[in-house]
Amino acid sequence: MQCGAIMDPNIPVYEVTDVNTDVVHVGSFGNLWRERLFNCDLSLSEDTTHLPGDKDVAQDLGCTEEIASELKLLCSVDSLKSNDEEDDPESIPEDCSLLTLGIRKNVLERRKEVIIIDRPGRQETFLHEVEFHAVGKMPENPADLVEEGELVLTLNIMYPVIFRKHKEYKPFQTVLVLGSQKLTDLRDAICCVSDLQIGGEFSSNPDLAPENICKDLFKSAFFYFEGIFYNDMRYPECRDISRTTIDWAESRDRGYKKFEAAKMEDYTFNDLKIKIGFPYLYCHQGDCEHVVTITDIRLIHREDCLDRTLYPLPIKRHWFWTRKCFVCKMYIARWVTNNDSLAPDDPCLFCDVCFKMLHYDADGNKLGEFLAYPYVDPGTFN
Ligand SMILES: [Zn+2]
Ligand SMILES: [Zn+2]
Repeated sequence: MQCGAIMDPNIPVYEVTDVNTDVVHVGSFGNLWRERLFNCDLSLSEDTTHLPGDKDVAQDLGCTEEIASELKLLCSVDSLKSNDEEDDPESIPEDCSLLTLGIRKNVLERRKEVIIIDRPGRQETFLHEVEFHAVGKMPENPADLVEEGELVLTLNIMYPVIFRKHKEYKPFQTVLVLGSQKLTDLRDAICCVSDLQIGGEFSSNPDLAPENICKDLFKSAFFYFEGIFYNDMRYPECRDISRTTIDWAESRDRGYKKFEAAKMEDYTFNDLKIKIGFPYLYCHQGDCEHVVTITDIRLIHREDCLDRTLYPLPIKRHWFWTRKCFVCKMYIARWVTNNDSLAPDDPCLFCDVCFKMLHYDADGNKLGEFLAYPYVDPGTFN
């Protein structure tokens, strides 16, 4: 992209090459596209664009109609197909130097081992399902159809900073949101284990482990984009948790520009000013912080999922390793114990059944000494 002096400020220009753009207003960027494109480009109904005839091609390329017709034949999609219709797409020639075929071959070979090792197949199916489950989906209710010219933003939500593994570089969720959606729609779509924690020690009465998960108890959260903290203030118990940071920044001249606070529920993505590729922040449960990056902004296409109720739409989710019960080694752990006289490890993980069988008698009386905490496995989201 050429950056001339007269360029519209709402066309993203890369501030640091290959890293992030300058600040753009999302909605205005969308308007620029909608002003320049034709209705047929924006249309979400069946592909109405017809292929140009030989005459048009000849005129565009400045060649004879004969050459144009030959070119069209050579460049047609049909010419990409293998001549031999009977060819088995799963058999890849040994001497093939195409990298893509090499990758495909590896995948096919791994799949053959699926019978012995269940994991690669399950992971592959899972990733594939997440990515494609909504491609081209139409809404059941026509009122839920995504509007023509709607913007689609791709967001990477990284692992929480408190995670030791993957925290810097691996997005644990990639989602598509619509420009007209509220920030709170994204907030509600982010699943993080911190929201599912149950606080407290329950060894004396495990059945009392409250149904109330942290998400229901502590509802405050914010997004941070370009100097503004967008706080979730939808419920009476919500607090402006950005206040401490803003006060800290203002308490002395710390070299930050003035931060502002706003209500998350009052803003859509179209209202935002952002840099594409820049690391922003999502913070919830007090200190569970995730880096959030907007990696792409584009117009909706007829082959996208057109059911707006399915947005924010997850298209990638990292596969979580589940931690199994120490006893049965089969079920996902639900309890973690400390100082446990009956356990070989400290901490030790148990499923609900094994935990209760080992630690309580038939009347539910506690056996031995231990501390017990409800455990929520990140793999719950797989
Ligand atoms: Zn979190
Ligand atoms: Zn078990």
